[in-house]
Amino acid sequence: MERLQNYIHGRYVASTANATFDNVNPATGEVFAQVEPALEAEIDAAIRSAEDGFRRWSALSGPERGRVLHTAARLLRERNRELARLEVRDTGKPIQEAEAVDVASGADCLEYFAGVASTLRGEQIALGSAFVYTRREPLGVCAGIGAWNYPMQIACWKSAPALACGNAMVFKTSDMTPTTAAKLAEIYTEAGLPDGAFNVVHGDGRTGALLTGDPRVAKVSLTGSIGTGKKVLAAAAASVKRVTMELGGKSALIVFPDADLHQAVSAAMLGNFYTQGEICTNCTRVFVHDDIHDRFLDLLVQRTKKLRVGDPLDPETQVGALISRAHMERVLGYIESGKAEGARLALGGARADAGQQAGGNFVLPTIFADCTDDMTIVREEIFGPVMSVLRFSDEDEAVRRANATRFGLAAGLFTRDLARAHRVAARLEAGICWVNTYNVTPIEMPFGGMKESGVGHENGQAAIEHYTQLKSVYVELGDVPCPYE
Ligand code: NDP
Repeated sequence: MERLQNYIHGRYVASTANATFDNVNPATGEVFAQVEPALEAEIDAAIRSAEDGFRRWSALSGPERGRVLHTAARLLRERNRELARLEVRDTGKPIQEAEAVDVASGADCLEYFAGVASTLRGEQIALGSAFVYTRREPLGVCAGIGAWNYPMQIACWKSAPALACGNAMVFKTSDMTPTTAAKLAEIYTEAGLPDGAFNVVHGDGRTGALLTGDPRVAKVSLTGSIGTGKKVLAAAAASVKRVTMELGGKSALIVFPDADLHQAVSAAMLGNFYTQGEICTNCTRVFVHDDIHDRFLDLLVQRTKKLRVGDPLDPETQVGALISRAHMERVLGYIESGKAEGARLALGGARADAGQQAGGNFVLPTIFADCTDDMTIVREEIFGPVMSVLRFSDEDEAVRRANATRFGLAAGLFTRDLARAHRVAARLEAGICWVNTYNVTPIEMPFGGMKESGVGHENGQAAIEHYTQLKSVYVELGDVPCPYE
């Protein structure tokens, strides 16, 4: 049985905990590793180490930091295949996705912020009698807390901007997907990152709470549910920490009657079934105009039927296993509620458990039609392969209904009408709005939610503001303006 320890100060260290927890393969139910949790002693060691790492890392110049990140990006790309397989074993997602996206987009992120590291700057403010300028300074020790759906990508999205800006980070993995962030830590060490500048600790919410409650941590960046986000915000308030929160969503895709139907169906499928539906930005509420509703639904069902569900390591597989048995039961519960509340099951709606799939957490891609806004499946985040299709008849109605939610992570619309595209994009209450596509997240584009879906942004130049603090420096060029004798 494999064993996974916390990675602190450039090496794996044994935990003081007497117990370990299981790492389970979602596609088979097999326990393949024992993970050592971080308790108070490990969190203390990780933060002390990070303080030391911060002193040495922040003393380097931007180009020096950029070179380390560039080297780490190269190592990530070289190890793409191996890391993708580890990601599949932890998450249950299809290998074709893990190879094409998870590790590759992590490397993209490291490369982008490697470049950013040498561009950090303040500004000079013109004043007659003084020389005034601002400095963009690192925060110190940051905590990253990750969800289980994109473990490697989330670890990169948090660590790369933090490190580029000169911070150190202690990253807590989700207890269900601890492997690849630890590999990232190994890679950073190999690339020349000073020991302690990136530490990885494992454990459940209690471990996360130890980190967020520690006054030595200057900032917390969380990817997780809204419930956890609220707890982390409350804990961060005690020592006025900076926060970035990437939380849940229940996003809308609006398909107008002039849409390219094939493209819109592609986007709806991508935005519901990629990573077996475990994506925060997914467009789980698909609003389709009355005029094209039936044709859209037919095409959607025909194409979704062809998706190949099964062994995530098979390169042909397009829909893998849900993260855990408990999560699968939750998703199946939502499917039952959809049936009970009167939605029409157009496709799927059950486990896939024949033959070798019996040990895994497979759920068939599911499409509900005739949905209404009050249904549980339309209101709550399901985080599985379950799409709700709703009808609408005019633009104002679609926008009003799309916005009628406490979530505000993402939205999408399909139309060939340029004016309508910009008009509707401006009115949608969502941090990301895609026009004529869905779920494309280039590293250059800021990523973050409105309303209860989040605080702050990852990616793009926007991330720099969240990993630095401004200092204003006023240099007097004349006499002190003193009214006293
Ligand atoms: P959770 O909120 O359950 O957990 C997220 C992380 O927070 C985990 O590492 C968890 O530890 C940790 N955690 C839990 N409680 C606390 C606490 N009190 N203090 C500090 N840390 C804590 O989310 P999931 O892992 O289940 O991920 C799914 C959720 O994440 C969905 O809501 C999804 O929408 C959202 N998400 C948002 C994204 C975005 O960018 N907006 C992207 C991806 C997912 P552990 O689980 O190990 O106990």
